[in-house]
Amino acid sequence: MGAKLFKEIEEEVTDLLSDIIRINTTNPTGNETEAAKYLAKNMGKEAFKCELLESAPGRGSVITRLKGSGEKPNLLLLSHLDVVAANPKEWSVDPFGGVVKDGFVWGRGALDMKSMTAMEVMVMKLLKRNNVKLKGDAILAATADEEKGGEAGAGWLVRNHPEKVSADYVINEGGGMEMPVNGKNIFTIQTAEKGIYWFKVKAKGTPGHGSVPGAADNAIMRMNKVIEKLGNYRAKITLVPTVKQFLSEIASENKPLQQGVSLLFANPEMGNQILDTLAQTDKAMAEEVRAMLRMTITPTIIHGGVKENIIPSDCEAVFDCRILPGQSPSQAMDEIKELLKSVGLEKLEFETIQANEPSESSAESPLYERMVNVLREFEPNCSVSPIMLTGGTDSRFFRRVGSVCYGFQPLRADIPIGEMMKMMHGIDERISVTNLVFGTSLLYALVESFMT
Ligand SMILES: [Zn+2]
Repeated sequence: MGAKLFKEIEEEVTDLLSDIIRINTTNPTGNETEAAKYLAKNMGKEAFKCELLESAPGRGSVITRLKGSGEKPNLLLLSHLDVVAANPKEWSVDPFGGVVKDGFVWGRGALDMKSMTAMEVMVMKLLKRNNVKLKGDAILAATADEEKGGEAGAGWLVRNHPEKVSADYVINEGGGMEMPVNGKNIFTIQTAEKGIYWFKVKAKGTPGHGSVPGAADNAIMRMNKVIEKLGNYRAKITLVPTVKQFLSEIASENKPLQQGVSLLFANPEMGNQILDTLAQTDKAMAEEVRAMLRMTITPTIIHGGVKENIIPSDCEAVFDCRILPGQSPSQAMDEIKELLKSVGLEKLEFETIQANEPSESSAESPLYERMVNVLREFEPNCSVSPIMLTGGTDSRFFRRVGSVCYGFQPLRADIPIGEMMKMMHGIDERISVTNLVFGTSLLYALVESFMT
């Protein structure tokens, strides 16, 4: 069908986004029900039957469905309604004002990810208005709690109402952005994300007087060794399929990078040297890639000691460990304990705070192929690459039960990509009205062609 930009919905999608930005869904506490109710009412006007489901009072998610004939797979358009906090003092506009100025919609959630909610709602409305004969169900779910881990939103829905949200394919956040690299534009599709493994280590010792250090066993000194070992650990480099494809793609546009990437593929064990060299010219890129190649561990919280002259018998520290697809939290713990043997495991206790499995969907699927085709209809010379997030999204809940999930929030780089990334969870978050129209039009073209 080719690329068509729906200029006629510009005002509607802009208003929709402004309205939902004005509903403050900062998590905690979330209070997503208000936004879910707004959407149910908004879509209800066009005869959508919406269901509002709460995991707890105020923690609402909204779901609706356009039935298909059953000849094709079902597709879920997923987004989260909650946002992270915003400090109005740091912003140049009210972060919850839904202000439209200079061609942009400003506010917390403008990128992460109320704009995607607005686009997905518009796609559903357009399918209905155009009376598109769907061959599979198109489902929309705008959920609570993603920013705190999703257990009270997508995770809860998948566990408690699988029949309402399960789908063969899921489109969610985490990719879709255009990355200009050496004059060529690469659109990313998130096909994988790392797992989260947060754990606490408690170091034990024997208390004593601060004036006679040798007579006591200082838990802070023990923890110091733990931090030294874990914080500086460079785990084995593993090239997961998504990362391999991503590196090949960005390197194909960049000669110096190409050499490094070929060297890395041939000798993964030389990865550190290669990345250290890359870091001299592009530190941000080198560190981003480093985190894609291995499990990472970093200390984030530490507590110990009670008084100036008491040698402490307890010290505890929290570590943020991120694991690659194919690895598990229990494997990570085994590796960590092995590393800490020389510190004395008998004097250490371990406690898991949170463990989320990593996840990956293959880039070999009819939907992925359609995404590439539709992107090329809208931007004929673009490249497309799968990408792995070092952070996490709600996609993991759906991948766990067998859905093929892609992070695909189509956005043109009309502000430099680095700036756009900083705005998410940062200040002056905004999206251009042009991008709202672009994203809606592209998503519509994708869903319509994939589902008919
Ligand atoms: Zn998000």
